[in-house]
Amino acid sequence: MKTIKELIRISNENLEAVREIRRRERMHQVYSECEELKDTDAEIVSAHKRRLVAVIDRDDKLIARLDAEIDKLNDRRERIIEANGIDPDFDQEVTICSKCSDTGFTTGKGGTIQVCSCREDDVKECFTYSGLEHFTSYDNKNYRSDYLGEPEARKAIRNKLLMVMLGVGEEDQKPLWVYYAAPQTGKTYLSVCLVKTAIRLGKSAYYSKCEDLADIGSDTLEQLNSIDLLVIDDFADDVTLNHAVGSTLNNLIEIRNAAGLKTILVTSIPVSSLITGCDMRISGKLKNAGTI
Ligand SMILES: [Zn+2]
Repeated sequence: MKTIKELIRISNENLEAVREIRRRERMHQVYSECEELKDTDAEIVSAHKRRLVAVIDRDDKLIARLDAEIDKLNDRRERIIEANGIDPDFDQEVTICSKCSDTGFTTGKGGTIQVCSCREDDVKECFTYSGLEHFTSYDNKNYRSDYLGEPEARKAIRNKLLMVMLGVGEEDQKPLWVYYAAPQTGKTYLSVCLVKTAIRLGKSAYYSKCEDLADIGSDTLEQLNSIDLLVIDDFADDVTLNHAVGSTLNNLIEIRNAAGLKTILVTSIPVSSLITGCDMRISGKLKNAGTI
């Protein structure tokens, strides 16, 4: 699993190389059109090298002479650039995205940090690492509150999920949450959108069906201990009685609770029934969970 921050860091390294290549290309172009500038720049570099030697030799006279020579060369350089209408910054690196200055993040309304629109490829790639490879069409853009009726109730659930993810209110600070609603009420849609939103805000997040927990590779499982948001869908008491799922989930919740990280269990079974029917270790934790 790669988090969005890791993917953006890798892209930034690539961008650094792209900027340098573009800079060299511009210099090559400018020098090929203006031999005089190329020679002057070579003379400036040479003078700076000689000055460095003079500094090491503590030859103050030579340093002063070279400083005067460098000043003269710089004046000549400026004149050549102006006379030929050359961009004075032609030999500087130029940022590729003006929105994020190639950092990959922008600051939105209210000071919220979010992934820049220029990193849509990184975001999409991150979704595939975050358990969302089968949910490409589930997106906030396609989200409708009036889907299945009850638009206000659905909007309220969506807002509550966002508040829990962001830890907005005092109550929202709890690490473990149960999102309960009847079957066929669009819980998976909202859960997937929540994980996607978290990633777009630069957070590490993962979505899994409860029964699939037993099949997650050990490396990814290890990472799930420390990511910002974990959403477990189709959570049911009988699934936790499967030994592998029960102990995996119990360990995850225990470590994540201790670190204060958000875990949301999504279920169509009322919490009271879950507490009675779950693996005992998990039941104990559910008693202190927040509910949505
Ligand atoms: Zn950008």
